[in-house]
Amino acid sequence: MNLAERDLKVIWHPYTQMQTAKPPVPIVRGEGACLYGEDGKKYIDAVSSWWVNIHGHANPYIAQKVAEQLLQLEHVIFAGFTHPAAVELAERLLAILPDNQAKAFYSDNGSTAVEVAIKMCLQYWSNQDKPGTKILAFKNAYHGDTFGAMSVSGRSAFTAAFDSLLFEVEFIDLPNEDNIGNLKSHISSLKSDLACFIFEPLVQGSAGMIMYEAKYLDELMAHCREEEVLTIADEVFTGFGRTGKSFACDHLNTQPDIMCFSKGLTGGTMAFGLTTCTQAIYDAFLSYDKLKTLFHGHSYTANPVACAAALASLDLFLDNATADNINRIVAAHTKFEEKIKHHPKIKATRQTGTILAIEWETGDNTSYFSSLRDKLYHYFLDAGVILRPLGNIIYILPPYCISNDELNYIYRKIEDALEEI
Ligand SMILES: *Cc1c(COP(=O)(O)O)cnc(C)c1O
Repeated sequence: MNLAERDLKVIWHPYTQMQTAKPPVPIVRGEGACLYGEDGKKYIDAVSSWWVNIHGHANPYIAQKVAEQLLQLEHVIFAGFTHPAAVELAERLLAILPDNQAKAFYSDNGSTAVEVAIKMCLQYWSNQDKPGTKILAFKNAYHGDTFGAMSVSGRSAFTAAFDSLLFEVEFIDLPNEDNIGNLKSHISSLKSDLACFIFEPLVQGSAGMIMYEAKYLDELMAHCREEEVLTIADEVFTGFGRTGKSFACDHLNTQPDIMCFSKGLTGGTMAFGLTTCTQAIYDAFLSYDKLKTLFHGHSYTANPVACAAALASLDLFLDNATADNINRIVAAHTKFEEKIKHHPKIKATRQTGTILAIEWETGDNTSYFSSLRDKLYHYFLDAGVILRPLGNIIYILPPYCISNDELNYIYRKIEDALEEI
């Protein structure tokens, strides 16, 4: 049996209908923006391996730092104990986050970072004996796959089997020039019930790379502050350079009360989650009453190897070469978007920073399950490019180290697909 056959005997893959899925592609090695199959075939990773990889695969610098950490300390319980990598990481990250962020709480993936954020908000109010149990979120939001994170995400085919068990959330439209006034009055009318407002700043990734203006988000956040509704910026996807600035919140004037990170946090090396918050939120849990404690933690909270990977990734992220690469990708995307946006097969294009989304014209059939999605996916895979369309939307968000040649190859294959599909 080859690897794919052995896989199918024992493994259940995520987001995969195992009945009809083609065998998985065995990958045995990664280097820079590329992955290499068992058969030697090279693939350009145009989606950064589910949006996590920012400095390229098997990055030697991160590998070195992780190896050193592994030989020093691989894990230690984080209740009652601490270690240098966890402290240094919190110090260094808090120094570059919006300056109201004061405390770091570690977990181990994006969904858990969101769960922690939600619990912080709900308990912030209950610790002060104040009402506020309802959460405000955007329609079509995606905040993760655990139950709390699923509850604050838009209801969809993915949540259908669980909808009756998800807690009730107030969903609002993305803000724009026309509806901002109504959204603000709506928040005011609900304010005493609202615990917090959670959002993906600037880009709703899973919804199909839906983008909206910083200006209106800023206005909503400022309004929430006036109405004493806490704000949670879920930067699990947008964090670490994706939007062209270090964090999507760097495009805003209003600072969120809580921020969530995962994906790019370790450069795509280790599963890791981080929730940061203001001093005021932290202070609301300080008490001689033990019931006011934040009772949350995971076995692998603040895992030293994950912290070391995040520290190494941060070193690379703060290097000028990475900023240059991000600017180079942003400019290349802009140029390519200009070139193709009027193509008759293209319905829409949009870009925020290093994220470029291209929406294919489909006539009526726009569902995620449309056959176009599979056609596009396999077309690019055959051509040696990993793109994972969301329905009829393809998007490029490469590791920042991608070369111009690799980027141009992706663009060329998209142009070919526009002619051939
Ligand atoms: C991916 C994602 C999550 C969930 O992260 P996981 O590590 O997959 O659990 C949460 N929020 C946003 C915005 C995401 O893109």
